[in-house]
Amino acid sequence: MADEHVVVEDPGNFPPPEDTVERLWAPQRMSYVLRDTEGHVDKPKAKECPFCAGPKKDDAEGLVAWRGTYVFAIMNLYPYNVGHMMVCPYRHVGLITELDDSELFEFEKATTLAMAVMGHVSHPDGYNIGINQGEAGGAGVATHLHQHIVPRWNGDSNFMPIVAQTRAMPILLDDQRRAYAAEFEKLAPSFGLPLRGTVSIDL
Ligand SMILES: [Zn+2]
Repeated sequence: MADEHVVVEDPGNFPPPEDTVERLWAPQRMSYVLRDTEGHVDKPKAKECPFCAGPKKDDAEGLVAWRGTYVFAIMNLYPYNVGHMMVCPYRHVGLITELDDSELFEFEKATTLAMAVMGHVSHPDGYNIGINQGEAGGAGVATHLHQHIVPRWNGDSNFMPIVAQTRAMPILLDDQRRAYAAEFEKLAPSFGLPLRGTVSIDL
């Protein structure tokens, strides 16, 4: 028997699909330091947090561009745009509210340093900076806080999907990392940050 009270909503009233900002961040659901011990990039170690694993490796292998006392800067293996960096605390915490004052200060200060480094090396026209917190917030690695710093160029949205699929990226990535690392060394003191901090925890 037909139920006269059933109401079919007009699809036109449904929320619109993802807006521009949401689409921009979607690829970062893929995490990045996914190389296994043989150096393969396609077989992630499912159980190891990539943000804890990165700084345990040497800079080149771990894609680390700079090491502070409480936080570090690391390249994204699957960048949304060339030069995409992240700033992470060494401590495995998921939310910015879990950082203590020293960590929080260096986390934000290092974000401004990373942006300046990016500006000097890559000369972008703009930046996207942000944190996806929790799985519901879109974080690819929800259990370890990471701030995205993505350089943007006028018109880059036309080629970014192609760039993101490029297999040669890990090689270019190390060139980019080295260029950033050199610039971090130049600029860190003027931001009141160490060239290479004495890490505050046991990695
Ligand atoms: Zn972690």
